Amino acid sequence: MSSKHKATTVVSAGRDPKWTKGVVNPPVMRGSTVVFESVAQMKQATGNRANQTLFYGRRGTETTFAFADAMTALEGGAGCAVYPCGTAAISGALLSFLKAGDHLLMVDTVYEPTRDFCDKMLANLGITTTYYDPMLGADIESLMQPNTKVVFTESPGSITMEVQDVPAIAAVAHRHGAIVMLDNTWGAGVLLDAFSLGVDVSIQAATKYVVGHSDVMLGTAVATKALWPQLRENSYLLGQCTSPDDLYLALRGLRTLNVRMQQHQENALKLANWLAQRPEVDHIRHPAFATCPGHDVWQRDFSGSNGLFSFVLKQGHQQATTAMLDGMQHFKMGYSWGGYESLILAVYGIERLRTATQWQASGPLIRLHVGLEHIDDLIADLEAGFARFNAAL
Ligand SMILES: *Cc1c(COP(=O)(O)O)cnc(C)c1O
Repeated sequence: MSSKHKATTVVSAGRDPKWTKGVVNPPVMRGSTVVFESVAQMKQATGNRANQTLFYGRRGTETTFAFADAMTALEGGAGCAVYPCGTAAISGALLSFLKAGDHLLMVDTVYEPTRDFCDKMLANLGITTTYYDPMLGADIESLMQPNTKVVFTESPGSITMEVQDVPAIAAVAHRHGAIVMLDNTWGAGVLLDAFSLGVDVSIQAATKYVVGHSDVMLGTAVATKALWPQLRENSYLLGQCTSPDDLYLALRGLRTLNVRMQQHQENALKLANWLAQRPEVDHIRHPAFATCPGHDVWQRDFSGSNGLFSFVLKQGHQQATTAMLDGMQHFKMGYSWGGYESLILAVYGIERLRTATQWQASGPLIRLHVGLEHIDDLIADLEAGFARFNAAL
C-alpha cells in the first residue's frame, strides 16, 4: 500500500480489505476478550499473536492493526507500536532498548518531559544520560562510550528549533553499535524520511499532526526490521495499548495530513516573513529561515515545513508579553500543537532546560502554532498584539 508520494500514502495506507471489510474506513472494533471456536483455533491464535492476529485486546484489534499498518507505510519501517500518548511512546521505546549500566546520549533541546524521564526515571534504573549539543553532527564521536546503546535525536528541537544532522549522527552511532531514535513529531512522517537518514526507531506524538484536531492523545514508534520484534514485545510487556475509538479518529486525521500540512506551511511561512519585517523581532526560529540553526540541514533532509515555529524579540519583559498574549483573538494559549487551530506561547526559563548548551537571547521567545485560519486574520491578531506589547514596554 505504500507509495513514493506521501499524498497517496496518507489516503491509502492501512485500508487493507482485511481490516475495512469492504467499507472505506476500518471500523471501530472494540474488544478485550477474543473467543475461539475450538482448541485448535485458540492455539493457532496464540502461536501467531505477534502478527496482527486477534488474540487478546491488549495486542490490539483490527482497528489497531489498520492504524499500525498505516503508520508503518507512512514512515517506511517494519512495524509500529502504538501508545496512549507521545510521552509513553518515548519512554516505552527507551525502556525497550536500555538496561542498567547502559549509557544514553540525549539531545539538549529535547522535549522537556523526555528530559525529565531521563533524569527522574532512567537515572534510578542505573541508566546514565549525557546531553549533547544539537548542532554537534559527526562530532558526537567524542561523546560515545563503550556502553552507549541509544543516541536520541529530536529535529527540529523543542521550542528553539535547531535542526540536527541526523545522518552524520547516525553514521557515528552505528559504527559504535548504538541505535538511533528520533522524535519525529515535527516531521510527522510526511516532511522527513527518517529511515533513509539512518534512524532505527522513529517516534511521534501522533497527538499533534497525525490526529490533527486536538481531540486525541496518541503515540507511535516505528522500528526497522531488525529492531521491530524487540520493540513490539517490550511495549507489550509494558502494557501499552490504545482505544480503538482514538485510533479511528487518528486514521481519520491521517487522511488529510498532507493537505493540512501544506496549508499550515503556507500560513506559517507568510506569517514568519511578516514577523521578520517587524521592528520588535530579533530573529525567526523557523527551519526555512537562514536565522534558524541547522537551516542548511533542513534544506537537505526535509521536504517542507509545517505550522510550528518560534521567534525571538529584541527586548521585552514578562509584563509586555502578557499584555500581548492576553488579548489574542485567534492565537489561543495552550500547550501542544498540530491541531487545525492557532496557538501562542511565551516561553520563559529556556536556559534552565539546557545543560550542554547555553540559551542566550536578546529578549523573550514566542512560539506559534499557525493554524488553518485565514492569514489576514492571523496577521491582524499579531499586529494588535504588538500594539499591546509596545504599550506595556
Ligand atoms: C507533544 C510532544 C510530545 C509528547 O506527546 P504527548 O502525546 O503530549 O505525550 C513529544 N515530543 C514532542 C516533540 C512533542 O511536541
